[in-house]
Amino acid sequence: MSLTVLMNAGPWLPVPPPGYGGIENVVATLVPELRRLGVRVVLASTADSTLPVDELMSVFPDGQFGALQRPYNQVCGISHAHLNGVVRALRERDDIDLVHDHVEAVGLAVLTAMGPGAGPALHTLHWDLGKHPDLYGYVDGGDRVRVNGVSASQLARAPQALQDHAVGHVHLATPLAVDADLRPPVEKSDHLVILGRITPGKGQHIGARLAHQAGFDLVLAGPVGPYRRPEELASAGPEAGQNPDVRYWREQVAPLVDGVRVRWVGMVAGTARDDLVASARATLFPLCWEEPGGTAVIESLAVGTPVVAIGRGCLPELIEHGRTGLLADDEDGLADLVPEASGLDERECRQEASRRFTPATMAERYVDLYEQVRRAAAASAA
Ligand code: UDP
Repeated sequence: MSLTVLMNAGPWLPVPPPGYGGIENVVATLVPELRRLGVRVVLASTADSTLPVDELMSVFPDGQFGALQRPYNQVCGISHAHLNGVVRALRERDDIDLVHDHVEAVGLAVLTAMGPGAGPALHTLHWDLGKHPDLYGYVDGGDRVRVNGVSASQLARAPQALQDHAVGHVHLATPLAVDADLRPPVEKSDHLVILGRITPGKGQHIGARLAHQAGFDLVLAGPVGPYRRPEELASAGPEAGQNPDVRYWREQVAPLVDGVRVRWVGMVAGTARDDLVASARATLFPLCWEEPGGTAVIESLAVGTPVVAIGRGCLPELIEHGRTGLLADDEDGLADLVPEASGLDERECRQEASRRFTPATMAERYVDLYEQVRRAAAASAA
């Protein structure tokens, strides 16, 4: 296939990320498959990205994730500076057939503002769309800029202007899903796990409360803002308190973390992360937001661990209640379901992952969307 895609992963973390990194993990999963299908990939990321690509372009030497806790006026320039680099490249070169953009809000705004003379673009919506109602309510990319969601439920909640630009959704994928159905079962321990950023939407405070009430062991894995390890957070300066996730941790989660019933192990990566999830009785998602795509949900299935969750956002699309997990309406319902998790068959989870959530499945769908977006842009330019 003769197609060159500028994959805009943004300035926050290198690709692949050194652990946590939802969007960067998606890009790291997608790009090798696209290249296997013959797509040439120019990656716009930070200079320390190590993912094999045809070309890497960057504005920042390394990930700017740590700056995200600063006040808005000190943060917003980062994504704009990165996009400046992307726009310059698009103006200077003529080999880019399409931009696949992953930069929340700013990517969509800049690509639409480039106007009719610019090439086609597909912007993937990774977040809860309630975050930017003003942008999404008035977006106008003509026939040139299209968006896709990471679940049907995410797009269903989008404002009309954004829905008018949508070409559908593509579920997230994980390399762990490849041949997941062929892997031998893993011996389960007694713990449950919550894997994800420690942030109010992911509901770690609910999980910790339930662990104490219902009497199960719970491991919390994930960073708190930019702090990856408990020691890092413990020695952070006063600026840490500006970060809403740090405040959430300190006020609502940490008081419930006793190091016995509920433990925080910080950010986990690689096989340590996979083993932690694979050996858990269930992965818990006590969600307080409409989970848009749920990478960690899919990863859990891939390693054979059922999901016990509040069924918000994409969860009902990803999990079949009673087969690959258990879905509750609220916190009380979740408490009732935890004991039932042991009755679920881990093979069903792994089979579901290898059927629906492999990188190849995701890449083939994106290639279809790239063609669709290019055709629509070409037809309107003719
Ligand atoms: N993750 C990780 N280590 C951690 C916590 C999370 O590697 O300690 C990864 C997790 O495996 C998943 C991603 O970070 O691949 C989080 O993506 P998800 O879509 O679940 O959450 P969000 O993008 O909302 O943060």
